[in-house]
Amino acid sequence: MSLPIILYIFAFMFGAAVGSFLNVCICRLPKGESIVFPPSHCTHCDYTIRYYDNIPIVSYLLLGGKCRSCGEPISIQYPVVELLNGLLTLLLFMKFGPTPTFAVLFLLCTALVVITFIDLEHQIIPDVISLPGIVVGFACSFVLPWLSWSDSLIGILLGGGSLLIVAYGYQFLTGKDGMGGGDIKLLAMLGAFLGWRSVLFIIFAASLVGSIIGVSVMLAKGKDGKLAIPFGPFLAAGAVLYIFYGRQIITWYLSLGRGVGG
Ligand SMILES: [Zn+2]
Repeated sequence: MSLPIILYIFAFMFGAAVGSFLNVCICRLPKGESIVFPPSHCTHCDYTIRYYDNIPIVSYLLLGGKCRSCGEPISIQYPVVELLNGLLTLLLFMKFGPTPTFAVLFLLCTALVVITFIDLEHQIIPDVISLPGIVVGFACSFVLPWLSWSDSLIGILLGGGSLLIVAYGYQFLTGKDGMGGGDIKLLAMLGAFLGWRSVLFIIFAASLVGSIIGVSVMLAKGKDGKLAIPFGPFLAAGAVLYIFYGRQIITWYLSLGRGVGG
């Protein structure tokens, strides 16, 4: 890791700038609107946002979180997505450097940011991201040194198949829909990008964190039967965890097994 610090700063700024575009996707994809036209505008007064008010994170702070034209508050989601995407890009660049792996995982992480925020707000995972994502992930296996095409293909089948089984099982046992088809397509996409080994890790991590948060919410709000917490963000978080720490966690887990079993 001896790359000049200016490259790290650039990586963060690039990620934050892309985050600015991701905000547009998050707002418009669920409505079926174009993500390129019209240019960014205030959702209250339709004021077209000028380039000098469109600097990631900085503009939000300078404007005090309010529209320059009408003074209505701008959603905190905008700077949060920019900051999050900037940090993810920086961390990916620090770990992988200027490599095809960085480019592919950057693509995956930006898609996961969009999916997470759309799922949190609308409880849907748009097919326009997950279905092409499966194809792109599979195509990327031909340029990545650590992912073979068969690894990616099995990842797609395992990702799609395993959640399908869980979803049917849940429905069979409880008689209600617990997991959406969107989650299944997302996991197939993750399997395509990260290979089949990632799939079980991601399901396990997502279920663990999801249950902890789900139970906490139920305890805090009183048991209300129906939980409106989407599963997509947990799958996304599990995937990010796998990208950065998957190998270490799996190695650690296997060493535990050796310790106990001899
Ligand atoms: Zn406005």
